Amino acid sequence: MLDKNYFDVKSKIEEICKNCGRDVSSVQLIAVSKTKPAEAVQTVYNLGQRVFGENKVQEVCDKYPVLPEDIQWHLIGHLQTNKVKYIVDKVAMIHSVESVKLAETISKEAVKKNVTVPVLIEVNVAEEDSKFGIKLEELETFITEISILPGLEIKGLMTVAPFVEDPEDNRVVFRKLKEKSIDINNKNINNVELTELSMGMTNDYAVAIEEGATMVRIGTAIFGERNYSI
Ligand SMILES: *Cc1c(COP(=O)(O)O)cnc(C)c1O
Repeated sequence: MLDKNYFDVKSKIEEICKNCGRDVSSVQLIAVSKTKPAEAVQTVYNLGQRVFGENKVQEVCDKYPVLPEDIQWHLIGHLQTNKVKYIVDKVAMIHSVESVKLAETISKEAVKKNVTVPVLIEVNVAEEDSKFGIKLEELETFITEISILPGLEIKGLMTVAPFVEDPEDNRVVFRKLKEKSIDINNKNINNVELTELSMGMTNDYAVAIEEGATMVRIGTAIFGERNYSI
């Protein structure tokens, strides 16, 4: 089942790219394996996938030592500052930087471990109370403030769009994020070139790719529904 799901998602991404005139290599698939066992990750790895997304530090720490070394782990969920030290040298990217304090902590721990961590800034485009993220109008100030920190490299923007029945309803969210990244690149802030746009999940990744996503974070369509009660 995992192989069918995985190859279905891969071919759907290809088809969407083709239909909107994008090169398929410009969209990276992040297989979101949160709550799923290491065996499921290994299965999808064996199909060729190397980039996986997790939203909890503990799960990265559990899976990291028992799975192949060349997996690129992306931390996509809310990150508490006191847990940064456990993962700065394990993850290929942190998608969820949304406070100066968190950015400073990543910087400090990265310098300590002599690594540079690629990060994305999480943006709360729709300004939902239930979501983490910087507001669009505060983004430039925020990025300018953290751009001087050593040990972290600001690569782009990330958003978790609202839950909607019709993915078309999120088109405006994705478009706003893309526009903002162009806007900020035009400001020529030192050390800042936003090239990545992490947006789109199982429900809305087609629309996100059409609007310029360079990374899509897909869980359910690959691994099936999650059961949080076990
Ligand atoms: C769980 C999660 C995803 C994947 O969601 P699906 O709807 O299962 O594809 C993507 N991004 C973040 C931040 C998540 O927490």
